[in-house]
Amino acid sequence: MKPGTQQPVNLVGAGLAGTLLAVLLARRGFAVDVYERRADPRAVASERGRSINLALAARGIVALERAGMMERIRPLMMPMRGRMIHPLSGETQLQPYGQRRNEVIHSVSRADLNRVLIEEAARYPHVRLKFRHTCLAAQPDAGVLRFRNEETSSECTMPIAPTFATDGAGSAIRSSLARSGLINVREDRLDHDYKELTIPAGGDGRHVMEPHALHIWPRGGFMLIALPNSDGSFTSTLFLARSGADSFETLTSPERIATLFRLQFPDALQLMPHLIEEFATHPQGQLGTVHTQPWHIGGQLLLLGDAAHAIVPFHGQGMNAAFEDCLVLDSLLDRHDSWHTLFADFERCRLPNAAAIAQMALENYIEMRDTVRDSTYLRRKALAMELERRFPDDFIPRYSMVMFHPEISYAEALRRGSEQEKILSELDSRATHSGVDLDRARALIAQRLT
Ligand SMILES: Cc1cc2nc3c(=O)[nH]c(=O)nc-3n(C[C@H](O)[C@H](O)[C@H](O)COP(=O)(O)OP(=O)(O)OC[C@H]3O[C@@H](n4cnc5c(N)ncnc54)[C@H](O)[C@@H]3O)c2cc1C
Repeated sequence: MKPGTQQPVNLVGAGLAGTLLAVLLARRGFAVDVYERRADPRAVASERGRSINLALAARGIVALERAGMMERIRPLMMPMRGRMIHPLSGETQLQPYGQRRNEVIHSVSRADLNRVLIEEAARYPHVRLKFRHTCLAAQPDAGVLRFRNEETSSECTMPIAPTFATDGAGSAIRSSLARSGLINVREDRLDHDYKELTIPAGGDGRHVMEPHALHIWPRGGFMLIALPNSDGSFTSTLFLARSGADSFETLTSPERIATLFRLQFPDALQLMPHLIEEFATHPQGQLGTVHTQPWHIGGQLLLLGDAAHAIVPFHGQGMNAAFEDCLVLDSLLDRHDSWHTLFADFERCRLPNAAAIAQMALENYIEMRDTVRDSTYLRRKALAMELERRFPDDFIPRYSMVMFHPEISYAEALRRGSEQEKILSELDSRATHSGVDLDRARALIAQRLT
């Protein structure tokens, strides 16, 4: 695609995907009009209540590298080498994510990352950032997008084509297209919600737990996690059923909240002086998976990132997948000369991968809150690492494929992961006290994976 000089490209939603895409399109010379509901984050403090920090992994990093952004983003990154498991007994245990030095994921502040991307987009004179503009609907038949200017409370329309809808999990554009019968949408809400809390820095300003780990308090039906921030604090998140026993519904008083933490997370409780106050004031967030099809309306509009395929956060991949969307779109621009074929090709490439990571993210919730404590899980994880050491070209643990191997698509990681699970199960069930039958392992891998 050659940049059009007459017709601007619209981008609705200056969140993580929208701003990265704006930079990539601007680098190619497109004139990009970016509409964002919020106020300019360069001028005002960020809103609270959404995930404060995120895990950035290889897929996201590759996309940020394409945009030439890593030099500015690297200083924001806090490496996390593994999961620090906090059992009720209090003795912590680090489960490394990978076995190579670079196999780490990184905690990054959402607000800082978004601000840096906005600053970068703003450097291009042909990018126009329009904050406090809420998109109300897309009307492809009339060829317009409808907006409300939050400053003036007035409404206006803009020509639609071409538009990238990056307005996130609750996309107003997606909803308006579904209402018009132009796309099919299914939103599967998880029956667990989340609440973000803080573990402040110690008196010396430093982290009060291991800073280079993602901390997990797995408790079977629910869990608490904590990711480090560069200011010495941790952002911790409680994931809990909405209703029923041990649920948000039952946490109706400070005593009940304190009791849950005293019984289930006693070591964390000691580190959370503002627990009760934060519990009362921080919003209870919802989680879910969005299935949408098609993702585009001819060459007029394309849904991308969470707007097309929001997922639950348990694999730490929603943003990474959204950034990978931007990278794929950027590559496809070289191969197409019409928006229609470009959008269709994008959907063809990305939809199976979005479905695969949606499934793996749901599966990972069970793993994080429950299976990580299980001896069979730990034995098979060690076996998977051993097989990776011995057969590095053919056997890579599924978690590693997703987090550290962007050259392997999500769909392929899901497919290979399921074959690998069968191999691990077979080898594990036949293992003797002298260890695993490596000849059998070699034969199974050759048969099923190479
Ligand atoms: C609790 C939690 C933890 C998470 N942890 C991780 C993690 O560790 N790693 C990871 O990779 N992902 C994680 N995610 C997922 C990640 O946040 C999303 O996948 C990512 O933000 C998607 O980017 P996006 O640009 O598509 O949407 P967003 O970042 O949500 O951006 C959407 C933008 O559109 C704007 N907008 C919305 N509606 C309108 C409108 N009508 N008009 C104009 N503008 C509008 C919004 O203000 C926002 O700026 C997590 C999510 C949650 C909820």
